[in-house]
Amino acid sequence: MERLKQKILNEGCILSENVLKVDSFLNHQVDPFLMKEIGEEFAKRFKNQEITKVLTLESSGIAPALMTSLMLKVPLIFAKKKNPLTLKEQDVITAEVYSYTKQETNTIAVSREFLKENDQVLIIDDFLANGEAALGLIRLIEQTGAKVVGIGIVIEKSFQIGREKIEKAGYRVESLVRIQSMKNNQIQFFAKEVLQ
Ligand code: 5GP
Repeated sequence: MERLKQKILNEGCILSENVLKVDSFLNHQVDPFLMKEIGEEFAKRFKNQEITKVLTLESSGIAPALMTSLMLKVPLIFAKKKNPLTLKEQDVITAEVYSYTKQETNTIAVSREFLKENDQVLIIDDFLANGEAALGLIRLIEQTGAKVVGIGIVIEKSFQIGREKIEKAGYRVESLVRIQSMKNNQIQFFAKEVLQ
């Protein structure tokens, strides 16, 4: 996605060799027009997959996941990071997720009410780094007997191990942008992404 790449180049801020800040259009302020394009692109890549639900993790995954669910005409579920008081323990499915950026482990939870055995679920997230968030969401889905159709990622940092871990586990990963390196304060995309 050329527009997403331009946004990253123009507005992204490299905090370290491993961490990219995109608060101006994805992680704090949100660009709704870009989110719409992102939703359309994921819907195109996963068409004919009979997806029944889109699942993400609060909060930064919600904007791109919502637009994807709108385009696919299915509900969006966002896993909650803290088991809320409104949900009873026996009514939720949980998984542990280590957060790379925050360096802490969170329990993520989804109500059993919204994920059923016959669901076909597309996972959407903002970033892919070490794959912890995506694998946590996969574990949640699989506890219900539902099927993981694939994982859609807005920004993949391909120099980290996430894609390898998820593909080894047997799942399809579709990333809209793949960053090969952020060394020397410069963003380099994967060569084959340039023409997309
Ligand atoms: P993973 O679980 O794959 O290690 O990391 C993915 C999660 O960590 C994403 O949901 C995202 O919120 C956060 N994350 C990982 N790397 C970055 C990054 O470079 N920038 C931002 N803004 N978030 C990141």
